[in-house]
Amino acid sequence: MQDYSVRIEDYYPAETFNRIKAFADGKETPFVVIDNQIVRKNYADLTRCFPAAKVYYAVKANPGVEILQLLRDAGSSFDVASVYELDKILALGVAPERCSYGNTIKKRKDIRYFYAKGVRLFATDAEADLRNLAADAPGAKVYVRILTEGSHTADWPLSRKFGCQVEMAVELLALAKELGLEPYGLSFHVGSQQRDIGAWDAAIGKAKVIFDRLHKEMGIDLKMLNMGGGLPGNYLSSTHDIDTYAREIQRFLHDDFGDDLPEIILEPGRSLCANAGILVSEVVLISRKSQTSLHRWVYTDVGMFSGLIETLGEAIKYPIYTERQGPLEDTVIAGPTCDSADILYEDHKYPLPLALEIGDRLYWFSTGAYTTSYSSVEFNGFPPLAQYVLD
Ligand SMILES: *Cc1c(COP(=O)(O)O)cnc(C)c1O
Repeated sequence: MQDYSVRIEDYYPAETFNRIKAFADGKETPFVVIDNQIVRKNYADLTRCFPAAKVYYAVKANPGVEILQLLRDAGSSFDVASVYELDKILALGVAPERCSYGNTIKKRKDIRYFYAKGVRLFATDAEADLRNLAADAPGAKVYVRILTEGSHTADWPLSRKFGCQVEMAVELLALAKELGLEPYGLSFHVGSQQRDIGAWDAAIGKAKVIFDRLHKEMGIDLKMLNMGGGLPGNYLSSTHDIDTYAREIQRFLHDDFGDDLPEIILEPGRSLCANAGILVSEVVLISRKSQTSLHRWVYTDVGMFSGLIETLGEAIKYPIYTERQGPLEDTVIAGPTCDSADILYEDHKYPLPLALEIGDRLYWFSTGAYTTSYSSVEFNGFPPLAQYVLD
């Protein structure tokens, strides 16, 4: 349990915070400010740490146009999940060869749309979807998503719903070939905000088994391994830095595949954007449920429905900074809507200064990913969470 208040310098250089705060001062809350310089640095760090990998940015993490443009110009490709995301990316002048259709759940008419636009790289994990791909995206490259362990060590798991077992993956890739598709590779996602690097070891080991079986049993040589996302943002729970992740993951790759590495794809979302954003909110109400209650409730103008849905189950614990100083008291933090699910943190009581007052601003660090894109459009009439991007 955290019993200290959040310090700026643990998350941002003072000048970065001051720049964002100066921009935010006087603007009506709530909103997210993205510092694109941080996105640029995160992308540069990632490509430095994984020099041989191709990066497909997971658009859903933050589809802000300025972010997409920056990544386009930096050379990134894009992992796209819907026709709407595809339209947005293509409208920015990105070639369809730099897009993959990474969603395993898709309508036939959407497959046709992607194919007509020139996309030739598709994820799948089910026979029915594979047959649709053969019919509507003839000759395309397909990669099969496999199930991975690690949901108990990821703060925002992405397993169970996606992927298939090893045996099924082998069968699907063999069938892909029969159906005239190109059995291109495998993908996995170890779970978002995966804090156990060992999760990649297990997943890569599984992938290697499938590569070998297809080679031996079917004469099929897969060319690509897509390692998905899972690299961390900087929240209250500590993680290793990106260099450590990269070193370990590449060691696992070499242990299993030797020097004969397949093409490696990464699909980062959170790790590129999370640290680049600060959400600014305002305290609307502070109360106690009884005169003798040992903790206060702080209600703020951002909540579960306006971008902070990753607080569901208190999964992601954002660092919350306030300018107030002095003694701290355990606090329950809740959003502004008429829904009792709109409680952000109750089990984990945030220590906030007793001096905190209605009207004060809260600065939610590392909110650049999975916030604005998750915000509802008008629950209780509140507008979607606004975003500003600084160059
Ligand atoms: C959401 C998603 C990602 C991004 O995951 P992060 O943990 O945010 O990096 C990557 N690949 C796929 C298929 C996804 O659905």
